[in-house]
Amino acid sequence: MLKDNIFQKIIDKEIPAKIAYEDDLCLAFHDINPQAPVHVLIIPRKVIATHAELTDADRDLLGHLHLVAVKLAKQLGLDDGYRIVVNCLDRGGQTVPHLHMHLMGGRAFHWPPG
Ligand code: AMP
Repeated sequence: MLKDNIFQKIIDKEIPAKIAYEDDLCLAFHDINPQAPVHVLIIPRKVIATHAELTDADRDLLGHLHLVAVKLAKQLGLDDGYRIVVNCLDRGGQTVPHLHMHLMGGRAFHWPPG
């Protein structure tokens, strides 16, 4: 059930994505409906449905996802800043039940985000 989502299909290469980065722990690909000039999703290969399900066992993995975001931000030219977003469950606006980090840049962002 958990594996029956679009991001798992991208991990399994069953559907295409514009991959920006991949390694043994994660992959990053360009969002199909970008909300900024640069909008990349960074996802773990491990099946984790949502942020609220993270445990101590995921400590290193989370650090890795953030460090990949830093590398990608540099590669993608986001030198003047960027935004990282993780939507969690319904009220957090999560639509795909596989943990993902949005890396967005290339424009200014406002606060509060709404
Ligand atoms: P969220 O609302 O935080 O769950 O974010 C899900 C994101 O996945 C949205 O920004 C969608 O545009 C994006 N998305 C959905 N399907 C695909 C896909 N096949 N390839 C790339 N991005 C996708």
